[in-house]
Amino acid sequence: MINITNLHKSYGDNAVLKGINEHIRQGEVVSVIGPSGSGKSTFLRCINLLENPTQGDIEIEGQSITAKDACVDKLRQKVGMVFQNFNLFPHKTVLQNITLAPVSLKLMTQAEADNKALALLTQVGLQDKANAYPSSLSGGQKQRVAIARALAMEPDLMLFDEPTSALDPEMVGDVLDVMKDLAQKGMTMVIVTHEMGFARDVSDRVIFMDGGYVVESNIPEELFTRPKEARTQSFLSKVL
Ligand code: ADP
Ligand code: MG
Repeated sequence: MINITNLHKSYGDNAVLKGINEHIRQGEVVSVIGPSGSGKSTFLRCINLLENPTQGDIEIEGQSITAKDACVDKLRQKVGMVFQNFNLFPHKTVLQNITLAPVSLKLMTQAEADNKALALLTQVGLQDKANAYPSSLSGGQKQRVAIARALAMEPDLMLFDEPTSALDPEMVGDVLDVMKDLAQKGMTMVIVTHEMGFARDVSDRVIFMDGGYVVESNIPEELFTRPKEARTQSFLSKVL
């Protein structure tokens, strides 16, 4: 589903991604772990062109998104993204937050989008919050709204950048449960996370990044219990 070939990204002189090659299958759930500053967010942001790669190619569903004539809007419809800090529109209700994009892009009528949004709110356990404003929600509730909003576009792929890092500990479980449910429904997901337990339980594969490279990638049982590379061993010894 995603083919990444020789992906490089630099900011000025700062080379952040130094040649990443990855193939992500349809329905695969991939966790990306690694130290702060290793390029995890940049990697994710290149997949939906929030950052423009300096070099290399990314194909999604057989179409290059890095080609000069690539259609960025179509790509963004296929790829949902959830950020650490929710990024909800504060002056809009939960329902408006979820329906805004599909209606303004004319993918659905307002009535269709409202129905879809209510079903998604039920899916994330917030059916009673449709008319609430984000400021009245807890962090965990906001993040579940953000997930529902991304799903309203009916994406083929979901990207998560540390979705639970800004949450109080007691909120983390509800958000991870929603993500687990999504994974079990067959969504293709790439998740940057510090939740090692979640990465181990839910992922089909774990990628360890360090210094702008994918150092090691394996099924979770192998990567967590028998890491091959010294850098992976050292990182895991600090976080496990
Ligand atoms: P991670 O998510 O693994 O912590 P990032 O991808 O956020 O790592 O950052 C990797 C490096 O890229 C860091 O050195 C960071 O300072 C730099 N960086 C990230 N985003 C930008 C940007 N928009 N402009 C300049 N430098 C950036
Ligand atoms: Mg990051």
